[in-house]
Amino acid sequence: MHAVVIIGSGFGAITAAIALQKRNISDFVMLERRSFFGGTWLQNTYPGAAVDVQSPLYSVSGEPYVWSHLFAKQSELADYTESLIQKYLLDQHIKLNSEVIESRWMGSFWRLSLANGKSLEAKAVINATGPLSTPVIPKFNNMADYQGVSFHSNDWQHDVEIDGKDVAIVGSGASAVQIIPAIVDRVKSLAVVQRTPHWLLPRMDWSFPKWLARILAFRPLYTLIRWCIYWALELRVIAFKYSPFLLKLVGHYPALRHLRKQVESPQLRAKLTPDFTIGCKRIIVSNTYYPALQKDNLRLFDASDAMLGFWEGGIEFAISGKVKADVVVFATGYDAADSMISYSVIGQHNIALSQQWKDYPRAYLGTTMPNFPNFFVVTGPNTGIGHTSAIFVIESQMKYISRCIDELQKETVTSIQPSAEAEMKYTNMVHAEMQRTVWKNGGCSSWYQNKQGKVIAMFPGFSFIYRSMCKRFKKSDHLIR
Ligand SMILES: Cc1cc2nc3c(=O)[nH]c(=O)nc-3n(C[C@H](O)[C@H](O)[C@H](O)COP(=O)(O)OP(=O)(O)OC[C@H]3O[C@@H](n4cnc5c(N)ncnc54)[C@H](O)[C@@H]3O)c2cc1C
Repeated sequence: MHAVVIIGSGFGAITAAIALQKRNISDFVMLERRSFFGGTWLQNTYPGAAVDVQSPLYSVSGEPYVWSHLFAKQSELADYTESLIQKYLLDQHIKLNSEVIESRWMGSFWRLSLANGKSLEAKAVINATGPLSTPVIPKFNNMADYQGVSFHSNDWQHDVEIDGKDVAIVGSGASAVQIIPAIVDRVKSLAVVQRTPHWLLPRMDWSFPKWLARILAFRPLYTLIRWCIYWALELRVIAFKYSPFLLKLVGHYPALRHLRKQVESPQLRAKLTPDFTIGCKRIIVSNTYYPALQKDNLRLFDASDAMLGFWEGGIEFAISGKVKADVVVFATGYDAADSMISYSVIGQHNIALSQQWKDYPRAYLGTTMPNFPNFFVVTGPNTGIGHTSAIFVIESQMKYISRCIDELQKETVTSIQPSAEAEMKYTNMVHAEMQRTVWKNGGCSSWYQNKQGKVIAMFPGFSFIYRSMCKRFKKSDHLIR
């Protein structure tokens, strides 16, 4: 029996492991379903992959890095992830090819069953399976007829030749916006299938010469830069929640200016202008997307020439008919909202988490649930943040999880869970606060919402408020036995 099992090996799992080590808990295992560890940035190797939050903030606090760009590219993020795994000797704890298919509460401990037939037991479980880790490909008509090669952007097939080929990319969200400029000059033709356009702001990126990058990684300076970026981004919440006027000033107008500056054709501009309030979906930052869309070998298909489905040689559109594609890339996103935990979790009294969450996923501080003792969900319901670094939120959760683990370390304590009243009070507060946010009222449907339109991915406010709630451990909100 282990003290803790951590599911996953991305930043969520890594920060959990570091937090445990800081508490001198070394009896933990990290289970990773893939044949390699590291999560998001080891998995997403598509051309152009990069972070869209400034790297000094999108990094683990107290773990500075010599970033060559303000917005790090995938390879640096992968190196950074691996450097943390090496530094904290986490490879000794990680078990690869270990997909959890069931976690079951056995009265005083958890039993985890793996797809490889093994099982293991632990007093506590930290689920860090990632908010955007299960890719989704919608069902299109006649997909089975298509004879070419297709794959999801999350699973880029580097051995598939795209140079000089007819390529199509389905989707126009954050990943597509990075991929399209990176491949447009390599392919013979590129068909871009856009369901809805997104708001884009300029990407204020800089590359740093090695000497400067080293200075910037000097811990006090790194902390100062991180602090400045954090507060600059945090101010956006005022616009997202409290001031439509400010949102227009700092979001809508700059985005329109960016579009006007980069796109001359009024027809194309019309196709690229969203009909929802900026911020309702994640704002994308790019200087290269609009120029790429205007290359001679690229055709943009929007709702006016809707995708009907596939034919054996490519994609069929309502007006343009059959368009050839040797390779189709699905940049169609992730199953973020409706299956926050995709395997079976059975708690006290044989209650299934999927049953408890049948209306919508909910958790105290987005982390713990009544009936599921000693079970902690990293990046759980309503912990998403559209304006700042996901790692900031993950580290906030660790403050709460660590306090719960402290309780579990006491000899007399076997379990901790939030009371149903405390969870309900927290959830009611979250959804009441959500009413005034752009994520609820912005007139879009996004992965922030579940199928019923309830915003279940985002925290409705300042991230420092969330952190302060996580830090202020309220023992009276918990059942400790
Ligand atoms: C392309 C892309 C770009 C992004 N860009 C940004 C950004 O710019 N800024 C930002 O703040 N956030 C961004 N994110 C969000 C990103 O998910 C978080 O920033 C962060 O990496 C989440 O870390 P995690 O450890 O929770 O999840 P992940 O890194 O996804 O790790 C989860 C791990 O759990 C494993 N796993 C899942 N289910 C099981 C199971 N049943 N059993 C065993 N293992 C399992 C997965 O294989 C994976 O390795 C991006 C996400 C993607 C996909």
